Amino acid sequence: MNPKQIDEIRSLIGDPSRVILNPQSVEQLSRDFYWYSPVLRKRLDGKLGDAVVQPLVASEIQKLLRYCYANNIAVTARGAGTGNYGQAVPLEGGIVLDLSRMDRIEKILPDGVAVCQPGVRLGDLENEARKAGWELRCYPSTIIKASVGGFLGGGSGGIGTVAHGGLRDFQTVRAIEVVTMEPEPRLVLHEGEAVHEILHAWGTNGIITRIWLALTPAVQWSQCIVAFGAFADAFDFSEKIAAGPAWIKRLVTVFEWPIPSFFTPIQQYAPEGKTLIFFMIASSQLAELEAAARDAGGVVTQSGVYPGLNARPLLSDYTWNHTTLWAMRSDDAYTYLQCGFDPDIARDQLRQLRERFGQEILFHMEFMKRGDGRVFPGAIPVVYYTTEERLNEMIDFCREIGVWVANPHVNNVEGGGRYRADNVQLLAKRRYDPKGLLNPGKMATFHSESTTAGVTTK
Ligand code: FAD
Repeated sequence: MNPKQIDEIRSLIGDPSRVILNPQSVEQLSRDFYWYSPVLRKRLDGKLGDAVVQPLVASEIQKLLRYCYANNIAVTARGAGTGNYGQAVPLEGGIVLDLSRMDRIEKILPDGVAVCQPGVRLGDLENEARKAGWELRCYPSTIIKASVGGFLGGGSGGIGTVAHGGLRDFQTVRAIEVVTMEPEPRLVLHEGEAVHEILHAWGTNGIITRIWLALTPAVQWSQCIVAFGAFADAFDFSEKIAAGPAWIKRLVTVFEWPIPSFFTPIQQYAPEGKTLIFFMIASSQLAELEAAARDAGGVVTQSGVYPGLNARPLLSDYTWNHTTLWAMRSDDAYTYLQCGFDPDIARDQLRQLRERFGQEILFHMEFMKRGDGRVFPGAIPVVYYTTEERLNEMIDFCREIGVWVANPHVNNVEGGGRYRADNVQLLAKRRYDPKGLLNPGKMATFHSESTTAGVTTK
């Protein structure tokens, strides 16, 4: 962007404090957690926006996008920047649109649907929902920082998914309002099935400005850690609880040794050499769970009522993709994959992986519910990285033996594994962003006819 354009954008926004040019802040707000991947680290280091704009209302975004469309300026939306495959890193400069100041929870409807702006932090929404007798159906382990808009744009599920499926399932996302990137940017409401045009599209086909998110009745939760001598016994027990319809659970996570040794603040609950299971379970079932764990040969090393996100320890801080973070702190050669095992043959798939790759892949399982209601062992295995070729060999082998992989080492919607076969995200991009100015480069199958001044979309 040239100085004249920067000046014009400043006068458009009218409040210079919300057009950030300070190089350090621009750099910080151009990054996310892409460095989780040694492959993406090489590709995305040094990619920066030219300026950061912090809108307050949708009409301001419309004004800005009208200007950017006319001047061929790329716009990359940003929530809290906790995405871990470079979703929010601008590849072609331009504007980083930081939505963090659009952070109003408008209302919680009587039927348990939250209406909010995109910059609301998920943790704040969870706290507000609980005051009204509701809670989030699912959330990432980054709940305290991550925004609702960023979760819809780049996330998939997390704590709660074992009971309620992922974000895309069971009509959890009821409606999304977006601003389009057209000569006259429109506000378009997507309801029902149409939300899938926008979900997990990485901000490539509209800027989310308002969200209707279905909640679930609040439960009094407890946390519990159980240790098992053998991974196989822990897997059997965790599967029984995860798939058992009578158990009211929010989290069922299994870590084989040595993963628990990476969790330095909670070493007192991690006996040497043992596999651990972390549960969030209804407090009314805690005693029953502990008894069942003992019957299965497990030892309860920690348990207690969960007071909320201020819990110490907060077990979710060690689960989902936080596990990878703890592993990387122990040795920065660790990275990860995102997998789905076949519930009917998971034990055999795990055996084959161990035989082929030994301790290069450490099993970290996250039980999840699919859209058809079946609970299956998902996984975010911790991988000891040597070369990109070896990483790809692991991914190929997983796919050969029927393990589904969402590859977190690629930087486009299609490669990441959540792309929809019906192409609705791409079709929406063609309608709403014909020049390819929204987060350019991230939807690999999109080709614009126009190659613009600052942006090449081919
Ligand atoms: P950002 O990173 O800012 O943005 C994510 C994507 O959404 C980007 O492509 C961005 O352009 C787009 N976007 C942001 N706001 C908008 C908007 N208003 N309109 C349109 N597009 C927008 N993810 C999970 O799903 N589950 C997990 O359990 C999980 N655990 C994690 C643990 C760690 C330690 C880390 C680092 C990441 C984890 N993630 C997880 C990834 C990430 O934290 C979540 O997906 C989170 O919800 C992203 O929210 P954010 O506000 O940080 O989004």
